Amino acid sequence: MGLSPRQRAEAAEIAAELARIARSGKVLQGSIVTRRTHCGRPGCKCMADPPEPHGPYFQWTRKITAKTVGRWLSPEQAEEYRSFVDNDRRLRELLGRLEAIGLATLEADPRTRRKT
Ligand SMILES: [Zn+2]
Repeated sequence: MGLSPRQRAEAAEIAAELARIARSGKVLQGSIVTRRTHCGRPGCKCMADPPEPHGPYFQWTRKITAKTVGRWLSPEQAEEYRSFVDNDRRLRELLGRLEAIGLATLEADPRTRRKT
């Protein structure tokens, strides 16, 4: 089945962005989180009124099967790798749009049996 001109244009647009991200090689699964902690030691600034927590500390985390794995990052790393994580998210969005085109093509195919 053929794609409509509009779908073809959208696929080309997606391909260009996919290629741009792939060429950068800057793709990282998971997320980067900011943590501020309270150590609980009496007299520490984190227990003062108002409390001043420790940090911020930065952590990259990702899920491997059911387990979350993490690495501590320097503030500089956190800033740098945030774009890697954003790129990964964008790749998934773009793949989702491609899959939607495939689904629309199948649904529009006259040979596809109607749901009953
Ligand atoms: Zn403390």
